[in-house]
Amino acid sequence: MKKHKNEDGTMKQETKVIEIKMEKEIKQEKTLEDLPGVGAATIEKLQIAGFNDLMGVAVATPGELTDATGMTEVAAKKIIAAGRSMLDMGFSSGLDLLEKRKNVMKITTGSKEVDKLLGGGIETNGITETYGQYGSGKSQIAHIIAIRAQLPADKGGTDGKVVYIDTESTFRPERIVEIAKGAGMDPDKVLKNIMVARAYNSDHQMLLAEKIEDLIVKDGHKIKLVVVDSLTAHFRAEFVGRGTLAGRQQKLNKHMHVLSKLADIHNLCVYVTNQVMAKPDQFFGDPTEAIGGNIVGHNSQTRIYLRRGKKGTRVAKLVDSPYLPDGEAGFVITGKGIEDI
Ligand code: ATP
Ligand code: MG
Repeated sequence: MKKHKNEDGTMKQETKVIEIKMEKEIKQEKTLEDLPGVGAATIEKLQIAGFNDLMGVAVATPGELTDATGMTEVAAKKIIAAGRSMLDMGFSSGLDLLEKRKNVMKITTGSKEVDKLLGGGIETNGITETYGQYGSGKSQIAHIIAIRAQLPADKGGTDGKVVYIDTESTFRPERIVEIAKGAGMDPDKVLKNIMVARAYNSDHQMLLAEKIEDLIVKDGHKIKLVVVDSLTAHFRAEFVGRGTLAGRQQKLNKHMHVLSKLADIHNLCVYVTNQVMAKPDQFFGDPTEAIGGNIVGHNSQTRIYLRRGKKGTRVAKLVDSPYLPDGEAGFVITGKGIEDI
């Protein structure tokens, strides 16, 4: 009799645990339609403005929502609060984050020295930015990782597909064929797994980045690498003059935010390239700096500065990594991609 009672008690406890779990799952499945006082017309306006899910609303400012829908500020504040309460916006423990880091994959560059500098390769779950002068190797590395990302994880890849946003018409399928052959891969297969889109201006570029989510979620493509080459060229060309700088930075920030979210949610690698400009007032050290300044720098987890070295070599300098020491590695660009000196 006593035993039975005990068993009963245990059973009850188990049921409770399951109930709590289910409640959490249901919470996460809520959509815009669950927001109180929000009708179909408003939802449509929200979606047109890019607020596709509760998280988008929860992290929006009231001003953004009033602009998008014409609702009053009070109403906007109300649905932001509602969105926040419906979502699990809490903290993650350090242990959870360490667990998440275990899923990070590294794409090898083909150069042992550069890989070592990067702690194994260019990693998923974040943005890596290379910046440097023309011909320093930014686009070459983009081509190389677009190929190597397709290798299985134990061969230094991610076993995934690639989206390549090409803003300067510098993507070369012939170069992909050459490097893929050098790595012993089937060039046709490799090319098929790279989805290339030419971006004609900064708005187009931003839109393409926003569409990647659909490629993954709706179309089921296992995209593990997104290349944006160049990240800043259109922005730089379209926003000239001091007066427009704030507008440019705001747009760039939004673009980086979209890329950053993709990297985080889908554990994919975002690789962006960036030009440099001359700093006329700099007398010591390197007289160049990356375009986009803090906005690009702060949104990139890893920053690599590329420059020409002696006798046709190149030097990669790790500028800003959250956990690796700064350092340099030399390499050469060859038919096969990049190799150690
Ligand atoms: P930009 O700012 O102009 O876009 P970038 O940093 O993207 O410059 P890349 O296009 O990556 O520059 O690098 C171009 C360099 O790569 C050239 O100097 C060229 O010598 C070298 N290169 C390209 N293809 C090959 C190849 N097949 N074999 C050897 N070197 C090559
Ligand atoms: Mg280039």
